Amino acid sequence: MPLQDATVIATYSRRMRLRFDSGDEVDARIKGKKLKPVCGDRVAAEPIPDEDDWLITAVHERRNELARPNMKGQREVLAANVDLLVVVAAALPKPDWFIVDRYLCSAELMGVDAAVVFNKIDIEPPDEDALDVYRSVGYETLAASAETEHGVDALSELLSGKTAIIVGQSGVGKSSLINLLSDESAQRVADISQKHREGRHTTVNSVMIPLPGGGNVIDSPGVRDFAPALRSPEEAIIGFREIHTAGEHCRFANCRHLREPDCAVKNGVEDGSIDARRYESYKRAVALTERLQKDRY
Ligand code: GDP
Ligand code: ZN
Repeated sequence: MPLQDATVIATYSRRMRLRFDSGDEVDARIKGKKLKPVCGDRVAAEPIPDEDDWLITAVHERRNELARPNMKGQREVLAANVDLLVVVAAALPKPDWFIVDRYLCSAELMGVDAAVVFNKIDIEPPDEDALDVYRSVGYETLAASAETEHGVDALSELLSGKTAIIVGQSGVGKSSLINLLSDESAQRVADISQKHREGRHTTVNSVMIPLPGGGNVIDSPGVRDFAPALRSPEEAIIGFREIHTAGEHCRFANCRHLREPDCAVKNGVEDGSIDARRYESYKRAVALTERLQKDRY
């Protein structure tokens, strides 16, 4: 039988669940040691004679990756081929918009669209001023409550047809929202990964949860605990889209928008076209990367 393309929909260490474009699903192993498929990957696979398992023989080029440094300082990819990064903030724990901004930076660096969800509005109304700022720079925003299910349909619509990841501080309600978004078929995938887990030691596993309205959410402990990091001031500039755009009009091409003269970003903050809090976030992000670079050398 010839090679077939499939999507990785669950991973358990070196064992994977694949979904073909036909909708059929199989279990698979990976050929050799070099290939490192993750959830969301498109792969080529072939059947193994006299076995139920298939063999992944290639990982196709990724559109993007969500990655973090692992314990050994190597780059570990958590998910691939994502369409939308959803950042969740909530009434509780008290929103830290600097952290939200840094998650949004991760989306910009991945080249992925992003949205901001304010959850737990049953406890406290959403911070409309903060959400307005995100809306004004082009991010979808919505208010939700996993408790009352307010906004869950809107979130479901936002994710429709897309592969999304949901990030945010611990306790904001990511798991609760994912549970509400998914249906029984999602439970089935979770059961499969549970089956793979038995008798094995590693905690690494991830699933792509299909949504009833089409689309998927990639979920894993790594994605849920993902902490955004910026490695350089240049990354901070890319990460704040309105600063990146305005920065094209600065006098100096390498303007950092801090103390330089004729800086379009600082002018924008003064005339109100760039939000002052976002600019403060940007400066904090730059300062963080500079401290990081000093520590490194
Ligand atoms: P995660 O760490 O982001 O995955 O957050 P969880 O989904 O585990 O939720 C953390 C806690 O907040 C749990 O006790 C949830 O029951 C609670 N929670 C989640 N969403 C809401 C909500 O919309 N309203 C209220 N009142 N509690 C919520
Ligand atoms: Zn500038």
